[in-house]
Amino acid sequence: MDFDVIVIGAGAAGMMCGCIAGQRGRRAVLIEHTPNLGEKIRISGGGRCNFTNIHCKPENFISKNPDFCRSALARYTPRDFIALVEKHGIAHHEKKLGQLFCDESSRRIIDMLRAECEANGVGCQMPCEVRAIEKTPERFLLKTDKGELRSASLVIATGGLSVPKLGASPFGYKVAEQFGLAIVTPRPGLVPLAFDTQELARYGDLSGVSVDALITCHGECFRENLLFTHRGLSGPAILQISSYWTPGEPIHIDLLPDRSAEAILFANRRSRALPATLLAETLPRRFAQQWCAAMGATQPIDQMSDKALRALADALHDWQVKPCGTSGYAKAEVTLGGVDTDELSSKTMEVKRVPGLYFIGEVVDVTGQLGGFNFQWAWASGFAAGQSV
Ligand SMILES: Cc1cc2nc3c(=O)[nH]c(=O)nc-3n(C[C@H](O)[C@H](O)[C@H](O)COP(=O)(O)OP(=O)(O)OC[C@H]3O[C@@H](n4cnc5c(N)ncnc54)[C@H](O)[C@@H]3O)c2cc1C
Repeated sequence: MDFDVIVIGAGAAGMMCGCIAGQRGRRAVLIEHTPNLGEKIRISGGGRCNFTNIHCKPENFISKNPDFCRSALARYTPRDFIALVEKHGIAHHEKKLGQLFCDESSRRIIDMLRAECEANGVGCQMPCEVRAIEKTPERFLLKTDKGELRSASLVIATGGLSVPKLGASPFGYKVAEQFGLAIVTPRPGLVPLAFDTQELARYGDLSGVSVDALITCHGECFRENLLFTHRGLSGPAILQISSYWTPGEPIHIDLLPDRSAEAILFANRRSRALPATLLAETLPRRFAQQWCAAMGATQPIDQMSDKALRALADALHDWQVKPCGTSGYAKAEVTLGGVDTDELSSKTMEVKRVPGLYFIGEVVDVTGQLGGFNFQWAWASGFAAGQSV
């Protein structure tokens, strides 16, 4: 079968690209190797899909080339996606920090994209496995388990490696290798961090406890909840910082971001209370107890030296934790790294050296922070390619 455009991967970016290409009258088809469209959309945002962020800026993205995302993000903005959502009557709300969620199910977003594809004559081969890609001077030839498909343009929208049980595969990176393109080494992002055995023995039983904290690593900082799990740390603040963390480095946690620990401790200089008892007025009690025990702060405050009190205050504002790793791709929301943006046109996502070949979405070395930015990149990069194919 012959098409103008074949899009491999019917996730967020692939469906957006398909419907834009279809709107322009291109004969386009999506190829998906699972039996379902947009599985990650379905599970996203706790089932309500945090589909964009109204404050989206290039600074919300991580890439070897931080400027690469500018052009696509400027040409397809959160307003554009909100207009599409509203055209389909999908009720939504801002949860916090500009994050927009569906009032009902994230399936509404999948249905919307499916309807847009169908209205523009874009079909989907599903499930369908691509076994080989060949390039002739004019066309791409795909050998699949459903037969041969040919097209002038080929868009790779197969996403990253996160959550393999939903269909994630290294397919996109393999295609990049086949065409000799550079890849920024992929690694899990927006992922829980694991405690080493010593920290696990100290805090492993705090699973479910959360603390409002300011977390810093490599000059980036996030103020949100930190959540203890039975393996280490999670919660929005940790997921955010995990994308900036490199193995072997500590993360810096300010446990009292709005207050002066020194002022609190010295205001109680003559108290016979334990530091943990005092801190339990602000921090979860069990955490305060276990944290003070780990810091060796187990004497009543009136028996501690000024130096020891100051050291405790400093540690409250800069608790350094050295994670021993992450929870890996099984729990990561995204994959950092991917096809090197130097290989692509920032306006169209076309491979500079291979006319007609495009990479969009998470398979590209552009990764958003937590909060709807990853979908906005999927929509914007899908739109950019959809307008060019
Ligand atoms: C649990 C979770 C929650 C998330 N929540 C949010 C959120 O609320 N907001 C947000 O902005 N981001 C969220 N994300 C991130 C977001 O889902 C992704 O960044 C986004 O889906 C990337 O879009 P994509 O189209 O590039 O890839 P995907 O949506 O992953 O789509 C890739 C598609 O390609 C298919 N595919 C893979 N290999 C092949 C192959 N060989 N042949 C054919 N098809 C193939 C896959 O099955 C999949 O359908 C979340 C991620 C996870 C894991």
